[in-house]
Amino acid sequence: MKKGELLEHARPFYEEVELLELEHAIDIATTAHEGQKRKSGEAYIIHPMAVATTLVDWGMDIDTVIAGILHDTVEDTDLSLDQLENLFGKDVSFLVDGVTKVSKARAGMHDLAEYLPQTKDNLSKLLIAVGQDVRVIIIKLADRLHNMQTLQHMPREKQIKIARESLEVFAPMADRLGMGRVRMQIEELAYSYIDPVEFKRLQNLMRKRLGKSTRKLGIVREEVDRALKAQNISNDINGRVKSIYSLHKKLKKVDGNIDDVYDLMALRVIVETKEDCYRVLGILHSLYQPMIARIKDYIAIPKPNGYQSLHTTVLTPSKQIVEFQIRTYEMHEYSERGLAASFHYHEQKSSKDYTRGKKSAVLPSNMQWITQLQEIATKLRSGEEITDSQLNIDLFGNRIFVYSPKGDIYNLPEGAFPLDFAYLVHSDLGKHAYGFRVNGSIHAFDKPLSNGDVVEIMTRKSVSPKTSWLELVSTTHARAKLRAQLRKNGAIQSITHAAGIIREKTRKTRVHSKNDKS
Ligand code: MN
Repeated sequence: MKKGELLEHARPFYEEVELLELEHAIDIATTAHEGQKRKSGEAYIIHPMAVATTLVDWGMDIDTVIAGILHDTVEDTDLSLDQLENLFGKDVSFLVDGVTKVSKARAGMHDLAEYLPQTKDNLSKLLIAVGQDVRVIIIKLADRLHNMQTLQHMPREKQIKIARESLEVFAPMADRLGMGRVRMQIEELAYSYIDPVEFKRLQNLMRKRLGKSTRKLGIVREEVDRALKAQNISNDINGRVKSIYSLHKKLKKVDGNIDDVYDLMALRVIVETKEDCYRVLGILHSLYQPMIARIKDYIAIPKPNGYQSLHTTVLTPSKQIVEFQIRTYEMHEYSERGLAASFHYHEQKSSKDYTRGKKSAVLPSNMQWITQLQEIATKLRSGEEITDSQLNIDLFGNRIFVYSPKGDIYNLPEGAFPLDFAYLVHSDLGKHAYGFRVNGSIHAFDKPLSNGDVVEIMTRKSVSPKTSWLELVSTTHARAKLRAQLRKNGAIQSITHAAGIIREKTRKTRVHSKNDKS
């Protein structure tokens, strides 16, 4: 896309001053990349232009789009971060700096290793580097998408390497952010390079199958549409075809037998309200025979990445197995665009809250991992130690959902203890906890919680945190809160020093004996 085209493309979404700034950024980047070429032989500037176009399409705010234009300048040209800050402000330079750091981590330049020598996991490194602002990851995803789209110009060896990394790092990252469409785009491209022969074979297999079932599915679709209209539920129904990569993964689970894959094509029913979703489910189940084990309520209990929908698989009278996904327009928007959806231009004000400080107040509970990510990033900067396992547990391990007695849902990593829950609900609850009741029975401090537990925290004003509790929490969040409280009480100093550890141990015994009496 040329400068004029990009500006026209962006015009409906941004204000006049923002567009002027964008134009300025395009000029600066064009000059800076002058003479550089992509592998395809084209001028380098086509790449940042494509990235910025994608960011406009994803509805990102102007700072992100401008950072997209400039994302390779600090690394590959004479422009410095200071210059960018002078020209476009702190926000833009911060974003470009984040993207540059990610590239360096990726290139294995070990600049992050000094923060985190024990971590070899690229994904963690990337996330830590950018923990401060999720928009950095979003720029990186747009960058990666364009590189994948132009991968044909690379030598075979590089294609494989980049495709692998995309599958292992970038697709899961998009998934974590709930950006389903981008995840799928990256996966399809990557898989087509990693195993071109199998990709083609599955593509053909899919085409044949779909040819057969599309007509039958059309009949089901009309039937459902009629039933919903009769109940005055306005709706859109469309067919969603399984991606080749997800078919490949599914086939591995069912010993390669495509007859065991029931959702090659699913029908997606999109309605106005959450209530309508459940009504649609009821209507479907009265029309067709549901397969009990395949009903999933991701509306009441969203996936950890925020995805919401009702899923059900039914058997039609003509013995056809059909999967339905039922969701509202809003849920649909989120499932496609994920966190990017919250940066939409006309929500720009509130979107800032997602990236600056006030996260826990704004983010839905199923996105709490972003808050944790930010806490880890802050700690790293302040030089506090972070262990590998902490990172993995918090960010990449499996998650469980537990409930407060009032029915509020909280999302914790697997293996979390009752105190982790208490600190998640409120740090004062953690502070004064003297016992827990889980599903009605007394539950020990050192016994991990399970998915679906209802956890009641028993508190007493006279109870205060103990250093021994440090072994009874597994989340970074709880540990940080607890440490701060202990420090405030004078129970621990800095534990990074050996002297501190010894001091902590002496105190620990003292605190213990004091507690034994209470
Ligand atoms: Mn780039």
